[in-house]
Amino acid sequence: MFTAIGARFKGAAAIILQNGVSLRPIELLITISIAISMNTATFENTYLSLIKNNRIFDSSLHESAAIIAKQCALALSASRASVWVAGETNSKLHCLSLYITETNCYESGAVLDREIYPGYFEALANERVIDARVTLTDLRTCDLAESYLIPLDVRSLLDATLRHQGKVNGVLCFEMVGQQRDWTREEQVFVASVGDLVSQRLIVEKLIRSEEKYKALYEHTNDGIGIFGDSVFKDVNPAACKIFGGERHEIIGKTAVDLSPEFQSDGQPSLEKAMSYIQKCLNGETQNFEWTHKRLNGENFQADITLNAIRLAGKDTFFSLIRDITDRKTAEHQAAIAQEKLEFRAAHDTLTGLQNREQLHEHVSQATQSVQKTNNESKVALLLLDLNRFKEVNDTLGHATGDKVLVKLSVALNERVKDIGGSLFRLGGDEFVAVFNSDTCTEPLEKLESILHQCLKTTIDVDDVNIELSASIGIAIFPDNGKDSHELLRCADVAMYYAKNNNNGSSWYDSQNDLNNKRRLAMTVELRSAINEDQLVLYFQPRIHLQTGEITGCEALLRWSHPKLGMVPPGEFLPLTEMSELIHPLSEWVLQNAIRQVERMLSSGYHIPVAMNVSARNLTDSRLADSIEKIILDKNIQPDLLEIEITESALINHPQRAVKNLEKINQLGIPIAIDDFGTGYSSLSYLKKLPLSTLKIDQSFVRDMLTDESDSVIVDSTINLAHNFSLTVVAEGVEDQQTLDELAAKDCDQAQGFLIAKPMSADDFDRWLENNANRSQTRRLAS
Ligand code: C2E
Ligand code: CA
Ligand code: CA
Repeated sequence: MFTAIGARFKGAAAIILQNGVSLRPIELLITISIAISMNTATFENTYLSLIKNNRIFDSSLHESAAIIAKQCALALSASRASVWVAGETNSKLHCLSLYITETNCYESGAVLDREIYPGYFEALANERVIDARVTLTDLRTCDLAESYLIPLDVRSLLDATLRHQGKVNGVLCFEMVGQQRDWTREEQVFVASVGDLVSQRLIVEKLIRSEEKYKALYEHTNDGIGIFGDSVFKDVNPAACKIFGGERHEIIGKTAVDLSPEFQSDGQPSLEKAMSYIQKCLNGETQNFEWTHKRLNGENFQADITLNAIRLAGKDTFFSLIRDITDRKTAEHQAAIAQEKLEFRAAHDTLTGLQNREQLHEHVSQATQSVQKTNNESKVALLLLDLNRFKEVNDTLGHATGDKVLVKLSVALNERVKDIGGSLFRLGGDEFVAVFNSDTCTEPLEKLESILHQCLKTTIDVDDVNIELSASIGIAIFPDNGKDSHELLRCADVAMYYAKNNNNGSSWYDSQNDLNNKRRLAMTVELRSAINEDQLVLYFQPRIHLQTGEITGCEALLRWSHPKLGMVPPGEFLPLTEMSELIHPLSEWVLQNAIRQVERMLSSGYHIPVAMNVSARNLTDSRLADSIEKIILDKNIQPDLLEIEITESALINHPQRAVKNLEKINQLGIPIAIDDFGTGYSSLSYLKKLPLSTLKIDQSFVRDMLTDESDSVIVDSTINLAHNFSLTVVAEGVEDQQTLDELAAKDCDQAQGFLIAKPMSADDFDRWLENNANRSQTRRLAS
């Protein structure tokens, strides 16, 4: 039936097409009217059959376009019918389906580009239907002439634009090949109506597509999605099933609280907290929060939840986006722990766990600030503890034991310091600092040093060894000694060194002892040039044999003949040199001049040894020993004409190195004396290991031995012990005859002191020797 109508239509069109040329109007009219009446019904039927056809909406877009093209082509008796859809950018039209009536076949269509056919695209945008009778001359279609219309011989066309939201998104197109056609109003209406149908189909397609997209998203996303209504899960996606560890049906019907522990991590009941989020959601606020959920196996996990409420079918429905952040939380937790550890490490000493130097400065500046604010009388005390002879513990028992000792000690000290309201810090090595604020310290500041000494006295048991510890403590006070933590620490350090060098146990900072005070700093600079400018002088003090009275030797004592200050005693400038490299050139100078004195006396016929004093620092390397060896060999000096005096403290810092250098000196045949005996950490068993020949009893014992019983006992026993070790004993600082006699009675070997002679310049010493020729006789003969 369609074919028949189509055939008639075709005929009518042919007549119309020829109209402009040679038609008989009456015939035309009849034909048209028949066609119209017939076509109206055909169009209606076609349209109805299309909208009723399930396949239009159920099958693919391609298939529905094919159905529509074909049925309309037949209804319109058009040569070609096609459906075009716009591409993504609406700048191109792609042929979806092209039906060729003559062959009853579909062909693949072209692509039309807005840039090539701007007039045509413009017409599409502005019109609902383009009814081009003569395509080649019609302004709306003439664009298409060369590349499209002429090759295909399309003479007329009727286009309906397809639109979505006002924009052209396709074209339904009918074309007449080889003939022209006037498109009737009904044809135009019909095409426009079908165009609307295709537009709808395109919208549906779009919806299906987006729904598919959403479905894919819902099914395949890694985030769990849960849909709630009436307080229970109505649906969950596979990701949510995976997160909760169950099948969809096991989760649907459960409440959010069923899948949560009773309480959240902040201690709030889950139910209460969930209700508050739901309420806020209902007020239109999207909620994003962290939540502890529970898997079906009872295991808790941390989730990040985004909750939205919408009205669906008159009901409040909630969409919950559930992200399992357990891994992230674990990582965050681990990162936080690591960070904490790093922070702790940055602020604490790794061995003892005590706060470190940076924390000390922080703490002291806070303490000084708070003291300044509160009370003029308040003070901050900084006590620097340096363990005595800790190096020996390390050297003899090993570093591992040394570390254990430090740990045990720091625990005990820390407890005690905290007890009385202070804070303890470890500066490193065997140095600790205790800080007290007079406002919060439970003890008077004056008592602190003895409290700390007391605490240290408790012997420490490590690895079955009993270790006795002692410390030198330096004390600095804010605001008296310094205004900031660095200055205070420096002062405490000065005080501590003073305590250590003077064997005092502890010492409060005194600017007199501070090598860094201005006078001393200026002196250091001057001293450097003093060595080169011959401002140094050696004085000589003799010592005699107590039984024979003969001169047994002399001690070289350094003086600085300062241009302004006069004769400066060594006590005032030696410590400056000992703290720097200056001690090396200085000792070298003393050595050269001591040897010069030996030579000078030899040339006068005196065979008297010269003793030079050697500092601790001279024994830390082999420089001095090397110089001694060189000068003895170069000048061919009898080695026992030079003597070395060392104090016990010289051996404390680097005992092994010091002993090595002493052995080297001793092997040259140079006698070594231990000086100031009794003031150091005198342990005779230790002395036994040293290559000593002489022991000099410190003048502090000699001075009072006649009046002080204990000093007398010490002198006595020292003489005995020294003799047991085959050492010659020299008593220093003998100022009166009685003492000299007493020493002789005690079997002391030799004496030195003001009674015999004060230290003298080389010239004075020459004269003295001459005056005491009887004493020097034996020596003179020996030469
Ligand atoms: P020291 O080695 O114990 O020297 C003895 C010190 O006691 C000398 O002080 C001397 O003048 C003093 N003296 C001697 N007899 C008496 C006495 O009867 N009564 C009193 N009250 N004092 C007496 P001086 O010369 O001031 O030397 C002090 C210290 O300086 C020396 O003590 C020594 O340790 C050190 N020293 C001196 N010269 C040198 C040197 O060339 N190099 C080094 N490294 N140290 C030196
Ligand atoms: Ca000496
Ligand atoms: Ca001495």
